[in-house]
Amino acid sequence: MSVIVAIDIGGTQLRAAVYPLTGTTPITVQRTPTLGMEDGVFERLTALVDSVWPIELADAISVAAPGPVDPYNGTIISTPNIPAWTNYPLAEMLSKRYKVPAYLGNDANLAALGEWKYGAGQGHHDVLYLTISTGIGGGVISSDMLIEGSRGMATELGHVTVLSDGPVCSCGVRGHLEAVASGPAIARYVLEQISAGRLSTLSSVKNLTAREVAGAARQGDELAKEAFVRAGNFIGLAVAEFLHIFNPSIVIFGGGVTQSGSLILDPITESMKRNIMDPSYLYGLQLATVKLGDDAGLLGALAQAHMRLSKVR
Ligand SMILES: [Zn+2]
Repeated sequence: MSVIVAIDIGGTQLRAAVYPLTGTTPITVQRTPTLGMEDGVFERLTALVDSVWPIELADAISVAAPGPVDPYNGTIISTPNIPAWTNYPLAEMLSKRYKVPAYLGNDANLAALGEWKYGAGQGHHDVLYLTISTGIGGGVISSDMLIEGSRGMATELGHVTVLSDGPVCSCGVRGHLEAVASGPAIARYVLEQISAGRLSTLSSVKNLTAREVAGAARQGDELAKEAFVRAGNFIGLAVAEFLHIFNPSIVIFGGGVTQSGSLILDPITESMKRNIMDPSYLYGLQLATVKLGDDAGLLGALAQAHMRLSKVR
């Protein structure tokens, strides 16, 4: 029997799992702290991989990592939580060490791939996946293909401009969706309004997060509710534009902010409908939330291995 070794490079944890060639139930899973600001991340990763390494033949190692990556040459271009991994040829290093093919992909793109293969997007041919948490990212399946682009950098769905004179994004550009609708952006809007004199039950909260804003909104805090409507308006505007470009049959929402449910999903839906050029885009369109949860990175990596192996088989 041959197997796939899947790796999820998270900001706080490295995870490794061994999957059979068919099925999504891992034979083994192990995890270890990333400690990305300290030396020795690669050594921690290989110790982890050694601990799960199968006796059976491994067909491939497949890695999901955050940040821009080049999936064609297996290099991490940069990843915010592991500064030492800049232009880092991770796939080649793993392949040399373990003597099997190694693949690398962007975690948001691979989450889209995983949700399509194993989660909420099963049975669809055209899938839009959008994750809204500390950042905003996504991935698109079009006619049963993951859109990757010429350098593997396609579908950075959080870095589209929705407010040209808006706040500066984590990427340095002004007015991107991520800068006005991510979790930190929602909390920052509330704090700005409080500084400007608005009343809110959140005025005395230190280190405010979107989760606390959601709690206050559920208790009826007007400013907190408004912050979600405002973010939802921007996300809905962007989703309408994505529908015009990709015309998916399902939109799958993930990330911590979408766990606030109707607080954010209702304004997204209303804004999407207001901004769509033709109602036909909405006929039969399903809106869903993710199904894979915590395992999205590992299952995305598994799906990537099958996608790459099917091209060489
Ligand atoms: Zn940006």
